[in-house]
Amino acid sequence: MSALYLHIPFCRRACYYCDFHFSTSLRTKPAVLKAILLELESRSPEATSRIQSIYFGGGTPSLLQHNELMSLFDHIFHFYDISPDAEITLEANPDDLTSQRLKELRNTPVNRLSIGVQSFHDSDLKYMNRIHSAKDAEYAIKRAQDIGFANLSIDLIYGIPTLTDAIWIDNLQRLILYQVPHISAYALTIEEHTPLHHLIRRKKTLPPVEEHIARHFKVMSDLLSHAGFVHYEISNFAQPDYQSRHNSSYWTGLAYIGIGPSAHSYDGYSQRRWNVANNVQYIKGVNEGGGWFEMETLNETDKWIEFVMISLRRADGIKKKDALLFGEQAYETLIKRSKDMSKQWFYDDSNALRLTLEGMLMSDYIILNLIK
Ligand code: SF4
Repeated sequence: MSALYLHIPFCRRACYYCDFHFSTSLRTKPAVLKAILLELESRSPEATSRIQSIYFGGGTPSLLQHNELMSLFDHIFHFYDISPDAEITLEANPDDLTSQRLKELRNTPVNRLSIGVQSFHDSDLKYMNRIHSAKDAEYAIKRAQDIGFANLSIDLIYGIPTLTDAIWIDNLQRLILYQVPHISAYALTIEEHTPLHHLIRRKKTLPPVEEHIARHFKVMSDLLSHAGFVHYEISNFAQPDYQSRHNSSYWTGLAYIGIGPSAHSYDGYSQRRWNVANNVQYIKGVNEGGGWFEMETLNETDKWIEFVMISLRRADGIKKKDALLFGEQAYETLIKRSKDMSKQWFYDDSNALRLTLEGMLMSDYIILNLIK
């Protein structure tokens, strides 16, 4: 089983907090898409098993024209063996989801939309320099559902200084009311070299507040659990049968092929590869047949660290039987280190090391101390 990721590195506007690879100039879009087609073809032999999920991420894949998206699908279906029931997700910004665009998307193989709502309140959207309004977000969800996209995932951000507890609860309640089956929610983080980092350093805007983040996280988990969502990964909630199959393949160490500038790939054993995060270099490298990616081979220690990092973020945690595949000593050291930390952070479970809500809030610190 494997997964295919395509990175579409263009956005209409730069959100202040974003450190993904994208360009707000669409000048190189035709050449990047041509290079993506070439890369899709040249790397198809790497897909040694049937593709179970395809994910268009970015950037903003919803700014692709219908014919551009269809030419990507023509190539994908020509060169890859795609499972008939593959999960096919496209990330979309609310302002792109007009009725016309949604109708076009229904006539493509896309069967899941991941909509970057972030908040239903304009003050938060303004703080983050999002291009859409709160109304755009509401209409986009309703229109997508009316047109037949039942499998929706909505992205939210919490810990924004303008986001009061009442507004945060209102954001979550709206998604419950709309019966959205999947929610991804991330704490606002300040990444270096982003406009937000710059603005905060120059005291031009307020930073996120740690206590707000902790409170918002707990309220979210509580509210969504009561509404029937499973909190299956630190930042992800799903109604039964709606867990993201694509992201779950990342979290369970399965193989995936990443196409496009900055995309990452993993062969499911030991090879990692990442494409250059620069559109011009990517186009040149793909056309000239080299120099557009780097690779590394993971040793046993690297694999153990990755296993701990991704497993602990999931509700299932680090299962004893899986951890023992790395040797008894590695497992015993892990358990000993967890026992040296606060009891409040771990469930009492002899078959798995699993984080409580308190533990999830401390996950970065905990992981660092488990793998030191
Ligand atoms: S739309 Fe997404 S990828 Fe583009 S700048 Fe905003 S957060 Fe980043």
